[in-house]
Amino acid sequence: MPVLHNRISNEELKRRMLEETEPRRTVSFYKYFRIEDPKTFRDQLYIRFDALKVFGRVYIAHEGINGQISVPEGHFDAFREALYSAAPELNGIRLNIAVDDDGKSFWVLRMKVRPKIVADGIDDPSFDASRMGIHLKAEEFNELAEQPDTVIVDMRNHYEYEVGHFERAIEVPSDTFRDQLPMAASMLEPHKDKKIIMYCTGGIRCEKASAYLLHKGFKNVFQLEGGIIEYTRRAREKGLPLKFRGKNFVFDERMGERITDDVIAQCHQCGAPCDTHTNCKNDGCHLLFIQCPACAEKYEGCCSSECQEERQLPKELQRIRRAGRGNEPMIFNKSKDHPLRKHRDEWKKFNLHR
Ligand SMILES: [Zn+2]
Ligand SMILES: [Zn+2]
Repeated sequence: MPVLHNRISNEELKRRMLEETEPRRTVSFYKYFRIEDPKTFRDQLYIRFDALKVFGRVYIAHEGINGQISVPEGHFDAFREALYSAAPELNGIRLNIAVDDDGKSFWVLRMKVRPKIVADGIDDPSFDASRMGIHLKAEEFNELAEQPDTVIVDMRNHYEYEVGHFERAIEVPSDTFRDQLPMAASMLEPHKDKKIIMYCTGGIRCEKASAYLLHKGFKNVFQLEGGIIEYTRRAREKGLPLKFRGKNFVFDERMGERITDDVIAQCHQCGAPCDTHTNCKNDGCHLLFIQCPACAEKYEGCCSSECQEERQLPKELQRIRRAGRGNEPMIFNKSKDHPLRKHRDEWKKFNLHR
């Protein structure tokens, strides 16, 4: 019986990865398709990926596969072959290669069987995530987006929408993807006969969302192929007009890739035009919020004067305070209902009146 899990300590694995001399390519991919036996599928793929020294995270479920991995350059073709041949549905799937990435994000291969590749809260067995809307390439998206009868729906989180989105796109204001699906369906009910385009960062969410709308009886459902990332890449390559304004939020140190020069958000503390996300510097908070350079200086990177004061306390005292507080509302909190974000609509009014 081959070993199907890694058994070496994390530190040792990280050390080995850092000692590697061959560069790695960081790749992400996903595909919704029916996997009858996720456990067997997982074990077989694990053996092939492990032999190619693939690192990263791969999730496998009855509804499909989702991976973020790194591959040594010299094994890249063999990896692609292994993935493409693992199932007929995987043959030729898009591999998103990270551009400015040092390939050092992963040092172990973790492959897990999960109930879903994207948690959606749907337990209706008749829901089929692989029965999705029509894919649109950038030029097709642009064309359809110009028709007055088209409804464009952003399926990302509110803080992502806040710093950048497509022209005319509507937001589905929920805190989780689970809530967002039924909310989108009821918001769109009056537009049931129109053309509906859904999009997200890389495509994995809007594909499921489009399948959900079809499941709910919608007919003209489309989704942006490969999300904002692929749209931007293709639009730039082909010299197409960019219909996305502002920044594309991404979960790395940059917290967003600028797509156009438009700054469509405001500092959460003073309302000045700004689209720079940051985490509150108070370790007991880490709130994700938008802060302009002037406020960053004034509050020393904190979200409030309370956090600023707390951060100056001795470490031990900070720790005791945190322990007594429980989880709300000072910990890392992405809720749109967080008090700091409640200003958001007020700032909008404020800017309109200036
Ligand atoms: Zn400010
Ligand atoms: Zn704070």
